[in-house]
Amino acid sequence: MYPGTAEFGFELLVCRWAEESWPPEDERSDAVIVARQLGTRRRRWDTVVLECDPAGLRARREFGERELDSDLLHVVRNAPAEWEWYRDALPHPGYPWRYVREAIHRAAARDAVETRRRGNRIEIRRIAPYPDWLRRIVAIENKPDLDASAARALSSQLEHDVETALADEVWVATEATGRRIEPALLEDLPVDVGILALSFDDANPSTADTGGVEWYPSEVTPPDAAADEERQRRRLELAERAYGRGWRSYHETMRPDCRHFELRRFGRALVPYCGAKRRSQTAAECAGSCERFEPEPPLWRTRGWPIEGGPGKGIKGLLRRRREWIRDRECERVGEE
Ligand code: SF4
Repeated sequence: MYPGTAEFGFELLVCRWAEESWPPEDERSDAVIVARQLGTRRRRWDTVVLECDPAGLRARREFGERELDSDLLHVVRNAPAEWEWYRDALPHPGYPWRYVREAIHRAAARDAVETRRRGNRIEIRRIAPYPDWLRRIVAIENKPDLDASAARALSSQLEHDVETALADEVWVATEATGRRIEPALLEDLPVDVGILALSFDDANPSTADTGGVEWYPSEVTPPDAAADEERQRRRLELAERAYGRGWRSYHETMRPDCRHFELRRFGRALVPYCGAKRRSQTAAECAGSCERFEPEPPLWRTRGWPIEGGPGKGIKGLLRRRREWIRDRECERVGEE
């Protein structure tokens, strides 16, 4: 098992595993995007897997690499094929039009919509139809030490996930112990929630990054979901956040500019490691308030530095490039079909 602070390291390894191996015990036919720590105001999931329509995902690239927030989505999804005054073209948003104008300017600055001025009026035209790229959302809660009390503590959150049906499927991922999951433990979790037992054993490559299904989840999408516009809107907003951030964005809150920050390879994943603490640090402790923080020496920035040990800029660039590369790969994979 990953020799670090259990939950954060495990979470990153689950994300990497899902990126390569989703869906478990089945062939991949959809394109897959993985993100972490996403959700709603009430509920945040550890890992989010988007199953995407491959052609739709390729078409989504037209609108840029960054996420489209709810205001931008309102503009790009409703922008007309031909020039039109924005107030005629867009449905009333339910809030003042001046906010829509701001969103139009933001969208235009990102080349996600075209604008022109006719007298006092701003006209808009779409650059392309916003594609229907999202198929399913899968939520995964990571609990490396899933014992009966952890299962009980989780169960009300998971019941909430099942009831709200924002995700189509809900799973708990736990570390494989080699034993069958205790039946009593299954009783403590909602029956609709799937259980994955994963093994990340760096010392034994043949068992590295393997995953087994202990219990299959039920599809929690309500049957009349297609009619539920509000739910679809919230799902798309969530999917856009996942698209823009991926799961490697931890470098945005952690301190890769600290001289002790390293990325270490574990199996097929790179995970953060703190040289001062000699262990994997959590995202929360690797922050500006960390007592052991030391800025990387300026000299480091003047020469090429290997992945391990910094410097921060190189690490950030590496993680960003990996995210882009994976997204491109998912688009291309399906282009060959
Ligand atoms: S010393 Fe603190 S800030 Fe530096 S890498 Fe370790 S945990 Fe992060």
